[in-house]
Amino acid sequence: WGAAAHPQRRVVLASPRSFCAGVERAIDIVAEALERYGPPVYVRRQIVHNTFVVADLERRGAVFVEELSEVPDGVPVVLSAHGVAPSVRLEADARGLAVVDATCPLVAKVHTEARRALRDGNTVVFIGHPHHDESEGLMGEDPDPASPRIHLVETPEQAKALEVPDRERVAYLMQTTLAEDEAAQVVDALRTAFPGIGEPPSSDICYATTNRQRAIRDVAAEADVVLVIGSPNSSNSLRLVEVAERAGAAAYLVDGPEQIDPDWLAGAGVIGITAGASAPAQLVEAVVDALAALGPIRREEPAGIEETYRFSLPPMPALPSTKRI
Ligand code: SF4
Repeated sequence: WGAAAHPQRRVVLASPRSFCAGVERAIDIVAEALERYGPPVYVRRQIVHNTFVVADLERRGAVFVEELSEVPDGVPVVLSAHGVAPSVRLEADARGLAVVDATCPLVAKVHTEARRALRDGNTVVFIGHPHHDESEGLMGEDPDPASPRIHLVETPEQAKALEVPDRERVAYLMQTTLAEDEAAQVVDALRTAFPGIGEPPSSDICYATTNRQRAIRDVAAEADVVLVIGSPNSSNSLRLVEVAERAGAAAYLVDGPEQIDPDWLAGAGVIGITAGASAPAQLVEAVVDALAALGPIRREEPAGIEETYRFSLPPMPALPSTKRI
């Protein structure tokens, strides 16, 4: 810790940080389903990408599965916040499963944009990260993957190399949790390759992603080290690490205080802290406590953008009559 060199470290908390409205809604949906139906409540994929949240809901009776084929008949199933391909809904309907959809409304908005762009005869370029649940769900909007009309690109090089049947009819969309600055580079490449390319009516990068990135950029500019609280599969948390690094700080992703390596903090006078949109506020407090246990700190929390988004919960469907309730 080097207390002699730094008698009191500054610990600067970025605002906003931690849960967004979509994550709060998704967790509330699982909690309400557990209350309404009783355990077990099956959840397809991690409801949100956070180890702590998932473990907590498992303790309360949620059962996380990868695919609907693992869900027995007659139990409720919750779809995760990241959205699903239409084929998943069709499969659930065909099996008569009682589905509670926790897709974030801001992810659902991108799906609606994709369907509209396809209906208008466009090829859709989706800027996103492969193998992420949100990208997988959105790519599933492609009516015929054998002759693809939605293409996933991640880099400007991929955007430039893209071949489409009609260069006049192309529209782009993007994953809600991208880094603003990186996505802008891909959009620039697309605009050069496809002048007149259709754009989303408003940014697909959601308010929570944007606000958290801007807040940590400011904090990282004066911090020696930034700790980002989030899980390794959380896209928006990984982007916060990258944004902090690009702002000049050494940045580390930690799931919780036990993962902090004191060596990271050697010589650091200012430590910035943020948390991804899926990471609970209590983990932030646990990290601050862990830093305080290592030596004297001064906690600072500069004011940030106030977030007022709230999403209402969907109705809980009735279970088929043969079911438990
Ligand atoms: Fe919705 Fe954005 Fe939160 Fe994802 S990060 S759940 S898109 S509000």
